[in-house]
Amino acid sequence: MSAVTTDPAGRAARGAVTVPAQASGSTGKLRLMAVHAHPDDESSKGAATMARYVREGVDVLVCTLTGGERGDILNKAMDRPEIRADLAGVRRAEMARAREILGVQQRFLGFVDSGLPEGDPLPPLPEGCFGVQPLQVAAAPLVQAVREFRPHVILTYDENGGYPHPDHVMTHRVSVEAFEAAADPDRYPGTGEPWQPLKLYYFVTFHRARFEALHNEMLRLGLESPYAERLAKAEENADRQTWEITTLVPCGDYFEVRDKALIAHATQIDPHGGWFACPTDAQRAAWPTEDYHLARSLVDTEKPESDLFAGIREKVNVCSC
Ligand SMILES: [Zn+2]
Repeated sequence: MSAVTTDPAGRAARGAVTVPAQASGSTGKLRLMAVHAHPDDESSKGAATMARYVREGVDVLVCTLTGGERGDILNKAMDRPEIRADLAGVRRAEMARAREILGVQQRFLGFVDSGLPEGDPLPPLPEGCFGVQPLQVAAAPLVQAVREFRPHVILTYDENGGYPHPDHVMTHRVSVEAFEAAADPDRYPGTGEPWQPLKLYYFVTFHRARFEALHNEMLRLGLESPYAERLAKAEENADRQTWEITTLVPCGDYFEVRDKALIAHATQIDPHGGWFACPTDAQRAAWPTEDYHLARSLVDTEKPESDLFAGIREKVNVCSC
């Protein structure tokens, strides 16, 4: 499916590790935390997964590190002076709508968007933005959120951020830091009681096998595929490192919910744009899962997985209340 990489964290994932007593003895609902850089990222990566788990009774919290203040307006119809005048406010309102559609909880962690630097050489990042914060400062609110929400599973980006936006790279760094530090009572004092999440996943969303499947399905249906260029590029970069897909979560029934949440981010998403080029039924036929790389795990699990909570359901006494 995709090239297997040597990943020290992945190796750890295969080892048998004792589940911390606090987690193994815990009761209540399963809890999933998705950590994202900007409002709209939660709707483009893992949204159908979250919609499915919410409807199955899992508590889902999206943590959004920045307010998306420096995002461009990517939907021409929304590029109006009154929108530009309060882009931060508009994006908060968009996030609130997407949150309701997905059925998740969501909180902003209060950092300022770094923007995507452009030019050669690249300009320095703006003063005070998320991307220039020392790790300890950048990670503290997320450690606090982990200690409060007590997730069993955390989803985030890989070390390249999925794409090279400074906020996405920093989001990866703070997620790994929180996964590793939140259970240590000596670290991040004053941010709550220690808590050890059991699994950390990276989103593997825009990968070649999926686009190939969508492309072929559209050709089969006699439709014009928009993916040829993307696939040619992938061919050129075939030797680039890609993450092993360890986990495929079936969530095709929730693709419409995902699309509605995406459209709620009206400044970022053109409802007539590339996001919606492939008919939903064709997507369901060609690739009905959202995919992940298990980067850290403190529970035993057999790969490939089809459930983010594989190895955890058995350990946690889940109540149906
Ligand atoms: Zn983003």
